[in-house]
Amino acid sequence: MAFARRAKPATNAERRIWHATMGRVIRADLDQLPSYVPGRSIPGAVKLASNEVAVAPLPSVIAAIADAAAGVNRYPAGTAPTLRERIAAQLKVPTSQVAIGAGSVALCDHLARAACGPASEVVFAWRSFEAYPIITQVAGARARVVPLRGDHTHDLPAMLAAITPQTRLVFVCNPNNPTGTAVPGEELAAFLDAVPGGVLTVLDEAYHEFVTDPAVADGVALRRGRDNLAVLRTFSKAYRLAGLRVGYCVGAEPVITALHKVSVPFSVTTLAQAAALASLDAADELLAHCKDVAAERDRVRAELLAMGFTVPDSQTNFVWLPLGERSAAFNEHCLARKIVIRPFAGEGVRVTIGEPAENEAFLTAAREWR
Ligand SMILES: *Cc1c(COP(=O)(O)O)cnc(C)c1O
Repeated sequence: MAFARRAKPATNAERRIWHATMGRVIRADLDQLPSYVPGRSIPGAVKLASNEVAVAPLPSVIAAIADAAAGVNRYPAGTAPTLRERIAAQLKVPTSQVAIGAGSVALCDHLARAACGPASEVVFAWRSFEAYPIITQVAGARARVVPLRGDHTHDLPAMLAAITPQTRLVFVCNPNNPTGTAVPGEELAAFLDAVPGGVLTVLDEAYHEFVTDPAVADGVALRRGRDNLAVLRTFSKAYRLAGLRVGYCVGAEPVITALHKVSVPFSVTTLAQAAALASLDAADELLAHCKDVAAERDRVRAELLAMGFTVPDSQTNFVWLPLGERSAAFNEHCLARKIVIRPFAGEGVRVTIGEPAENEAFLTAAREWR
C-alpha cells in the first residue's frame, strides 16, 4: 500500500518519487507518444477546425435522444443490433458483416488490436489522419509511413511496395484527412487486388457523404469479393453526431467477430444508437445538406485559387492549403480575426467548410493575407 500513500505527493521530493514510481507503471514506449490533438474551440470565434457540420442536429434527432434518455438506467443493447440491421439493410450486406463502434476512430483502434501483434507492421500514408500513428503504436505495432505524392494524394504503388511479410494492416483514408484528396476507384481497385490476402486494408471513408466526383469508388461496393477489405464510416460528420460517438465497420464476418471480441463492452451508448437510427430516418435531408456543403467547398476553393493559393481538389467538407513554413503564421493571422482553423506546422492548414457566412469570414481573412 506504499503506492497508495504516495498517490497525493505533498512535497517536491515526494512528487519526484511519485513520478519515478508511475514511470514504472506506464509502458516506457508511451513516453514518446504524442496525445491526439483536437481542434481548438475559442468562445465567440468561428470554428473551422474539426470538420464537423456547422448546423445543429435535426429536431427529430434531438427528440429521439431525449426519448432514449428515459432508458439510460439500463445498459445499452450490446452490439447495437437494431442499428446494425438497419445499416446492413441499407447497404444490402448481411448483418453479420456490420459492426457498430463508439466512433470510427474506436473501430480503427479495435481493428489494429485485432490484427496486430508485437512484430506487426501497419502501412499508412503521411500526412494522413493523426490517429493512425497513435493507434499503431498503442497496438504495439510498427508504423511504415509512405509520403503522399506531390499532388497530395495517396501513393498507392509505394504503399504496396511498403508491405512486408510483417504487415498486418494498411490504412487508406479516402478521401484523405487533412488534404481532402481522393484516389480514383480504378486505382484503388487495382491496389486492393494486389494487396496480399493476409493483409487487412482498412478504407476510412469518414467523408464519404461529401464526395461528388463520380470517379471515386464506394468502399462498400469495392468490398464485394474482397474479404481482406474493411470499410469504416461515421455518424460524426455528415450525420452531425460528433459529440455522441458512433460509427460503423463493414467487413468480412471473421473481422466483425474479432471487433466484437476486442471492443470494450457497452461503449456505444443508448443515446448514440437512438440518434443514429433517427438520423437514418432523416438521411434524405442530412445528405442533401452535404451536397450544399460540397458546393460551398468548391466555391471556397475557387475563391482561394483566384487569390493565388494552392488548394488541391477536395472531396470532403474541408480544404487544404499547403502553406509549408508559412502555416503557423497563417494560423495566427486567422486567429487574430477570430477564425479557428487547423494548422499542421511546416506543412499546411486545414479549413473546415462551415456555414456560408463563416466561410465568408475565412475568405476575408485569406484575402488580407500577404
Ligand atoms: C473525423 C474522422 C473520423 C471520424 O471519427 P469518429 O471517431 O467517427 O468521430 C474517422 N476518420 C477520419 C480520417 C476522420 O477525419
